[in-house]
Amino acid sequence: MEKYTTISDLACRNKIVLLRCDLNVPMKNGQVSDMTRIERTLPTIKALIEKGAKIVILSHFGRPKGRDVTFSLEALIKPLSEELGKKVAFASDCIGKVAQEAIGHLKEGDVLLLENVRFYPGEEKNDPDFTRALAAHGDFYVNDAFSCAHRAHSSTEGLAHFLPSAAGLSMEGELYHLAAILENPQKPVMAMIGGAKISTKLDLLHHLCEKMQIIAIGGGMANTFLLAQGHQIGTSLAERDMIETASAIMKKAAKLGCRILLPEDAVVAQEFREGAASETIAIVDMKPKGMILDIGPRSIQAIKNALNEARSLVWNGPLGAFEIKPFDNGTNEIAAYAAKRTKEGGLISVAGGGDTVAALGKKGDDFTYISTAGGAFLEWLEGKELPGVVALRRS
Ligand code: AMP
Repeated sequence: MEKYTTISDLACRNKIVLLRCDLNVPMKNGQVSDMTRIERTLPTIKALIEKGAKIVILSHFGRPKGRDVTFSLEALIKPLSEELGKKVAFASDCIGKVAQEAIGHLKEGDVLLLENVRFYPGEEKNDPDFTRALAAHGDFYVNDAFSCAHRAHSSTEGLAHFLPSAAGLSMEGELYHLAAILENPQKPVMAMIGGAKISTKLDLLHHLCEKMQIIAIGGGMANTFLLAQGHQIGTSLAERDMIETASAIMKKAAKLGCRILLPEDAVVAQEFREGAASETIAIVDMKPKGMILDIGPRSIQAIKNALNEARSLVWNGPLGAFEIKPFDNGTNEIAAYAAKRTKEGGLISVAGGGDTVAALGKKGDDFTYISTAGGAFLEWLEGKELPGVVALRRS
């Protein structure tokens, strides 16, 4: 893995650490409905408390256009304080006098949350003046928000150029596990790629052909590949303008010795709704009517066989329309099998991006690592440099 300064390298007793977290958490009726992102960043906050730093948390929340109290981070004070078991202070501005005064009151091990950095347009523009105004508060910058690292914003990238910087523990975890899958994986390494469309995952598929020995494709995106192979897919979701592209990806994979596994059979329904009548049909027997909404039992078995061969797995995207029963079966069965292989010690499994974490549900607990990042996870799998990560690298 590449070298990053970490918080264990920081001599930060009694120093002000600007800590970029991702507190852009889902909320329902003013309450946090999923604590995962908060839980992931707690170890870093606790480690910095332990080191006697004065911790100043920066985050965005939602997409406000200027100052807008509906996007205030104040609602996060209660859950953060409860999780940390200590009072977290709040400042209603992230720069200027208000922030300065609140920081002035901090003692060793105290924690302060500053208001949403996106209340200022300079944040997303990575405006050096705004970055300078943020940096003016701190002695160090720690980035623990891997999920925001694909954005070159002031608080995710810019600050690293103004202050001595380090990766937080959650950032380190993400970098370590993604490197373990992409840079120096135990082989054979397999990718499981699902979801609705290939047009959103073209760069990903191209890059994975170069890195993987096996790619299993499921979900709506498999349909376009089936069309490219000359199969009928009835009224299934597909991108007909992507047929050539799908062929090109299959050719590239074959040339590079990467095996692509496509569904052999499917669970097909006439309607896209919960509990719709369905039947299992071999792909070669598909009729002009009917929608493929999940992979069938033969395809499930083929993926399980591949999982028996693989030593490493990276998973993005559900294998069927998992939100509506019974079309969650393929995703559930494969998730359970990958979890079992991982528990037995036969597989290193990493999953992330978009709907994947929701689709894996509880079974994800037994995976080696579940990334909380969406876009950043996908861009990393696409082989792209993430500006927030690059900025942390030791020169
Ligand atoms: P993505 O955001 O690209 O990962 O796509 C996730 C979405 O793809 C989920 O909402 C799934 O319901 C949907 N999906 C997966 N398989 C199918 C399918 N065979 N037909 C229609 N939608 C699907």
